[in-house]
Order: sequence, then C-alpha cells, then structure tokens
Amino acid sequence: MKRFRKYLLSLLLCCSPLFVQTAQGAVRGSPYWTQKGDGWIVYSITTSQPIIAITFDDGPSQQFTPKILQILHHYHAHATFFVIGSVARQYPNLLLSIKQDGHEIGNHTEHHRQLSEVTTSDITMCDKTVQSLTGVRPSLLRPPGGHLTMQFLSMARKTNHKIAMWTWDVDAKDWSRPGVQKIVNTVIKNVDPGDILILHDGGGKRSQTVEALSIILAHLHKDGYQFVTVSELLQHGSILQKKSFDTK
Ligand SMILES: [Zn+2]
Repeated sequence: MKRFRKYLLSLLLCCSPLFVQTAQGAVRGSPYWTQKGDGWIVYSITTSQPIIAITFDDGPSQQFTPKILQILHHYHAHATFFVIGSVARQYPNLLLSIKQDGHEIGNHTEHHRQLSEVTTSDITMCDKTVQSLTGVRPSLLRPPGGHLTMQFLSMARKTNHKIAMWTWDVDAKDWSRPGVQKIVNTVIKNVDPGDILILHDGGGKRSQTVEALSIILAHLHKDGYQFVTVSELLQHGSILQKKSFDTK
C-alpha cells in the first residue's frame, strides 16, 4: 500500500512542469530510468529483493568518513560516496580506504559550486581526481545542491555519466541536523526495497548522521535488508530498462 501511494504521488510529480527543477521529489516506482533532455536519471529501482543503496555526499571528511566506514564494515554494507574532488585531494588516504572497503565513489563535482555555475570541467576535474587517487573513474554523477537543470543533464551526457539522485521520501535532510531520531524514523518508516538513501559524511558536523546510521543499519539488517552500491543496485533492473539506459 505504501509502495502504491508512493507510485501515485510520483505520477503526479512526473507530470509537473517543475519536474527538472524539483527532481529529487520525482519519479517513484516503475520505470526507474527517466530520460530528460540528453540525460538519464535514477531515483530508485523496482525490485522485490530487500536491497537498498545508501549514498553519502560532500565528503570525504577526516572526522566522520572513517566512523561511517567502520559502521558499514560491521554490517557488511557497501555504499556509494559522492565526493567533492577538491576535498578528496586533501585526503587521498580516505579515498583509498573507501575504495579498499569495496564501496563505490561517485562524482559530486570538483568544487560543489552552485548548480548554475557548474561547468563541464568541474565534472571532468573531479573524475580525474578520483581516478588519479583510486585508479577508477566514477561512472555516477550527482549534482551539487540536489537540483537538476537541462544544462546539467547535457553536461552529464557529454562527460558520459549516469545521474544518481535519491528516493525522495527517505531523505531525512540529515545535513540540517534534525536530530538522530528524526533521521532514523524518516528512513525506517519509509524505506522500500530498491530505494536510494541519501546521507552526508562531509560538509559540516555529521555526528547525528553517524549515530543514526548505526541505528538504521541495525534495524534494516534485522529486517533482512542488504546494502549495495548504486551500480550494484542498478544490476537488478530488467533487461529492457538496462538496454534503454545503455543507449548512448
Ligand atoms: Zn552536496
């Protein structure tokens, strides 16, 4: 029922002319690939398997990323870290730890400028930073600030990235430090298989996020959930949808 309600709401949001500007509030249910302009975007996938992808933005953080890695390791959880290139260059060892622990690293641009100021080189510079530190070029891109524009979609296409947003109703806005319980409740009351969660390991004080993550993982682990990277999550789509996505 909850899934159906989410689906109905997503249909309404998909029809909104504001779709691109308020993209984090859109698209729930099937199909999970949405094409807008030149680019493809994913918010969640449709699956009956108890898998979700947890993502962390704005890091790495010397103070909080290692704590998050420790918690993820405890639950055999894999996650995706959307790093800021200029920050990653300051902490090469953190980036290596993220990769060595089996997590995915996504591109969150080089400087996390306002979306209207992001250029193609902000994207390619972050790619180069991550590749030079880990040997792997990010295939996933997430815009700074949580919004999308047609221009950004076009840049994603040109730089050969898929855009990974997140599932709107499991966004606790942890960056605003709403309290550990609020973060926990938003996630565990709304989560469904196939969701992409968003949390933040960088960009400010993230002790609430760290504490909440521990509780969330304990709870969802007990419910039988497995935690995979976004790219792993995407492997669970139907062949037809994957074909569409791979169209260059
Ligand atoms: Zn960000």
